[in-house]
Amino acid sequence: MAVARTFEKIEEESGRLRNIETLSNLLRSVLLLSPDDLLCCVYLCLNQLGPAYLGLELGVGETVLMKAVAQATGRQLDKIKADAQEKGDLGLVAESSRSNQRIMFQPASLTAGGVFRKLKEIGSMSGNSAMNKKIDIIKGLFVACRFSEARYIVRSLAGKLRIGLAEQSVLSALSQAVCLTPPGQGFPPTVIDAGKGMSAESRRAWIEAKSLILKQTYCEMPNYDILIPVLLKEGIDELPNHCKLTPGVPLRPMLAHPTKGVGEVMKRFDEAAFTCEYKYDGERAQIHILENGEVRVFSRNQEDNTTKYPDIISRIPKVKKDSVVSCVLDAEAVAWDREKKQIQPFQVLTTRKRKDVDASEIKVQVCVYAFDLLYLNGESLVRQPLCRRRALLRESFSEVEGEFVFARYIDSDNTDSIAEFLEQSVRDSCEGLMVKTLERDATYEIAKRSHNWLKLKKDYLDGVGDTMDLCVIGAYLGKGKRAGAYGGFLLACYDEENEEFQSVCKIGTGFKDEDLEQHFNFLKEHILPKPRPYYRVDHQQSPRCGWMPCRSGR
Ligand code: ATP
Repeated sequence: MAVARTFEKIEEESGRLRNIETLSNLLRSVLLLSPDDLLCCVYLCLNQLGPAYLGLELGVGETVLMKAVAQATGRQLDKIKADAQEKGDLGLVAESSRSNQRIMFQPASLTAGGVFRKLKEIGSMSGNSAMNKKIDIIKGLFVACRFSEARYIVRSLAGKLRIGLAEQSVLSALSQAVCLTPPGQGFPPTVIDAGKGMSAESRRAWIEAKSLILKQTYCEMPNYDILIPVLLKEGIDELPNHCKLTPGVPLRPMLAHPTKGVGEVMKRFDEAAFTCEYKYDGERAQIHILENGEVRVFSRNQEDNTTKYPDIISRIPKVKKDSVVSCVLDAEAVAWDREKKQIQPFQVLTTRKRKDVDASEIKVQVCVYAFDLLYLNGESLVRQPLCRRRALLRESFSEVEGEFVFARYIDSDNTDSIAEFLEQSVRDSCEGLMVKTLERDATYEIAKRSHNWLKLKKDYLDGVGDTMDLCVIGAYLGKGKRAGAYGGFLLACYDEENEEFQSVCKIGTGFKDEDLEQHFNFLKEHILPKPRPYYRVDHQQSPRCGWMPCRSGR
């Protein structure tokens, strides 16, 4: 109930800092009253069953979930479906359906640990009879639900918690909690608020510094099963000594900030030494070589792509020098035309099978473009500057044309040479350039959110446009000539991390009169009384008129 109440508060509030505070208060209570539940509470907040890189899934589809809700509440499936369609949220339907049931004994209250274990049990079931067993467990959870618990359990099962809590906020809340209410105190505790007496400014700075320790450690070891027990036993300062980058465990990859042109790059990096590399247009491949010789490939989102790339795996022994026992490489896998010896567009790569690929059946060949080395022979290199990491990369591997090549680069601070290199990169079928600091502020410490890497894409350059797929979440009644129909539309994109549609812009030009009429006739049938709770809209853009339904994935 405490977890569900916290979710309710977070769902109602849009302020990030407020929400971090709210969650940290829950976690502080957990630290004092029931520290063994910290891990499952964190997983419930993240709606995960275990470390993201293991890809554990519940395997409960929407239809099964509706069936379970119908059976548990004694309502007809059709009614549940219609309600869900109308409210756009099966969680809310489940919450409001509960009162229909009659039971003889009130089941024991749900606990965070109990719910999490049931979710894990559901995730571990497979095979023919699994569906009915899953439905039974869900029903069991359901009858014990009170107040908003049903809403969040159903949303967790559907894989969309929709409270707008991103993982970075959970990490912030967790570090704030362990700072203010240190774990391991026993009961009654001696310190409930370690920040008491500090000025707001120094309290914030102190928590932020500690939070960085947790976030950086998490980037290198993204596994709460390992982190949280250490946090509870040893404290936040000790985390880096116990949880280290390990081949076989994908680390969070460094991303880049967009820039508008060479001028902006020069301004941002000022005096710092930097390098410009080709930005290859393929798929991120974090290649891990384990001490036992095993090779694993992970995606940008830490999914295990090992069985997608048997061709990459088999060429590693050929390109790695004997001195390499274990390592983590950062690279881009790019579609490659062997006959023409040239890079193929990203779209070609997407036609490759995604799992359990048989090496003999591969039609789309890939070339690996290596650009970083993050770990070598037992040592993490993430705190080393790029110039050192790049030197080690080049010492440790050799190139084979069309199979394994180092990313092309120039180290120049001459605006004309960079502009020329950018154009060359586009001619060579790349997306543009990645510009990276080489010495100062050139570590691979993602959590610091530094501006070490900038991207210079041809699309951002002045005068070049791009297209976007957005969806209509609202419409404005037209004026004048357009009176009586919609004259403009509010468009949004779906943010997977926060599980919400975020407004992007209004559009109102470029339509023919027939288009407007057609859109009006279609959309007027779908007006909602109020925006969905998972629409995040800039208030200046709020339509005076109709809200339109959108669901994720559509
Ligand atoms: P978006 O599509 O939003 O522009 P993106 O997926 O291209 O984003 P970015 O942060 O823009 O991601 O760019 C980083 C990505 O570029 C990396 O994840 C990697 O896959 C790719 N990449 C290609 N070449 C390089 C390179 N030389 N150094 C680093 N990343 C590179």
